[in-house]
Amino acid sequence: MGEDLEQLKQRLPLLDYLRQQNWTGRPAGQGPEFVGLCPLHPETRPSFYVNARKNLFYCHGCGQGGDLIRFVELSQHLSFRQSLTYLEQQSAGADPAAVLRQASAFYQQQLDCYPEARRYLEQRGVRDLALIRELQIGYAPGGSLRRHLLAQGCSLDLLRHTGLVNPQGHDTFYQRVVFPCCQDGRIVNLYGRSLGTAFAHRFLPGSKGDLVAWESVRQFPSVILVEGMFDLAVLWQAGFRHATCAWGTHLNPGQFRQLCDRPRTVYLTFDVDANGSGQQAAQGLAHRLHAQGITTRRVLLPPGHDPNSFFVQGGDARQFHSLLEAAPL
Ligand SMILES: [Zn+2]
Repeated sequence: MGEDLEQLKQRLPLLDYLRQQNWTGRPAGQGPEFVGLCPLHPETRPSFYVNARKNLFYCHGCGQGGDLIRFVELSQHLSFRQSLTYLEQQSAGADPAAVLRQASAFYQQQLDCYPEARRYLEQRGVRDLALIRELQIGYAPGGSLRRHLLAQGCSLDLLRHTGLVNPQGHDTFYQRVVFPCCQDGRIVNLYGRSLGTAFAHRFLPGSKGDLVAWESVRQFPSVILVEGMFDLAVLWQAGFRHATCAWGTHLNPGQFRQLCDRPRTVYLTFDVDANGSGQQAAQGLAHRLHAQGITTRRVLLPPGHDPNSFFVQGGDARQFHSLLEAAPL
């Protein structure tokens, strides 16, 4: 067998696979669970549950349950070994989410091979190896992704369609530190921060997805909202695990709904830049959040700073905590 079982299951999450098979599920509550009609037996009322985080299913109707491979065994009437072969072919196929996942995995592998990437992370104050893994930070050297994904069986059309490869057929991301953007636990986009002179921020076409790590952040009674992933990284590193990021100051409708999903306090921690755009955005957002019953406080960093530069230039957790306490309503 060419590939480890766990890797295969990660590369092709159960929920992605079911959606490819046209299964429609709706969220069951606020957690990672989805519910829909069971594909394994006829029914009119949904009793088939998928836990996207655990990557498992269970049907209360027919009592079947298990992982992706078990599902394929049951639905396709294949043996365990036949199911693996079938899935390996499937995952190399034509699903954009699977391709983005493969691209992200490739970029994560590259990070260790390019000292300039690790140097850049260090400059931005990101040193904790466990954190780098947790945030799935990768590096796009440029010029090698296309070859890698074609060899994995992806079509060039699909690579163009996802935006990973530009219309000229070259890798889109060159010399960029790369973060995955997720929605419902699936990668829906990639963000690349340029190390060089190219335009600093770049996404692939399409949605930027959910607030970062919302599943774990949403349980806190107060959350810190920042603009960028390097802000989030240094805050997490300093112990502020209730920080999340919207990839910019403009929240998409899904992200806005997430912030409003229960009463809470939101610490708006946008850049304090010379032209005042960060603070203007914070004011506008505070207004919209108040209308939804959310308490907001504006964290006033020293002029010219964002949370990243605050920590990189010597600020510590105690000082940042004081800023939170002093943040005006
Ligand atoms: Zn069933």
